[in-house]
Amino acid sequence: MKRVSMLGCGIDICSFDEAVVFAKKNRGQVVTINPEMIDCAIKNIHFLNIIKNAELVIPDGVGIQIGLKILGYKTVRIPGIEFARRMLSEFSNEPVALIGAKPDVIEKTVQNLKKDIPILNIVYSHDGYFNDENEILTDVVSKNPKLVLVALGSPKQEEFIFKLKQMLPGALMIGVGGSFDVWSGNIKRAPVLYQKLGLEWLYRTVKEPERFRRIFPSLPLFILKVLKEKWCYVINQ
Ligand code: UDP
Repeated sequence: MKRVSMLGCGIDICSFDEAVVFAKKNRGQVVTINPEMIDCAIKNIHFLNIIKNAELVIPDGVGIQIGLKILGYKTVRIPGIEFARRMLSEFSNEPVALIGAKPDVIEKTVQNLKKDIPILNIVYSHDGYFNDENEILTDVVSKNPKLVLVALGSPKQEEFIFKLKQMLPGALMIGVGGSFDVWSGNIKRAPVLYQKLGLEWLYRTVKEPERFRRIFPSLPLFILKVLKEKWCYVINQ
C-alpha cells in the first residue's frame, strides 16, 4: 500500500481489490476522501489528525483523481458506496452495525440490505440524529460488531469513528456519507455513464441544487491548490 501526500493529507494508492484485502486484514478506520474533506482538514487540525491516523484513506471522487494525476500519481477512483457495499458482502457472517441518516432512511436501508444479503447479521442500527453521542457509542460497543458503517456526513462521521475506534479494537469502520440514502431507495445514484465519465458530482448537483454551493468554488479552488503544491515542489527541486 503506497501512501502519498496531497495538501498535507495522506492518500493510499491502490486498486479496489487491494483496498478490500487491506481493510479486511488490518481493520480500523477507512476514510473515503474527497476534495471537500481535504479543504476541511486544511482548516481543522483535529480532522487532519484523524485522517493521518486512519488505517486506510481511499480516493473517492474525480476531484481527488485529478489532484493525484497533477502530482504524478495514476490511480483508480474507489467510490465509497461501492467499497462499503462490498465490505458488507465480505462481512456477511460477522456482526454488523449501521449508524446514521434519518430514521425512515436507516429503517429502509436495513430492510433492503437484509433482502439483498439474507445472511447479513445486523446487530445494531440507529439513525444519525441523536443528542447523546456517548450513549450511542456505548450501545454499539456492547454489541461488539466487526463492521461498522457510519453515515453522519463529514467530518462528523470520521470524528465519531475515531472515538469508536479506541473502544472497539479489531473492528472495521467506514464513513459512508450519503450511502444509506441511496440504499434506502430515497436517492438514486447517477446513471452508469455518468459514473464512468467521473461526472457523478454533476448529476448529483443537478438533482440536489443545494450541493452546488458545497462544490463551487471549492472544487476548482482545490485543483488550483494542488497545482500550487506541484509548482512549489518543481521550483524547490
Ligand atoms: N446525517 C446524519 N446526522 C447528522 C447529519 C447528517 O445522520 O447530524 C446524515 C444525512 O441524513 C445523510 C448523511 O448523513 O444521510 C450525509 O450525507 P451527505 O450527502 O451530506 O454526505 P456526502 O455523501 O456528501 O459525504
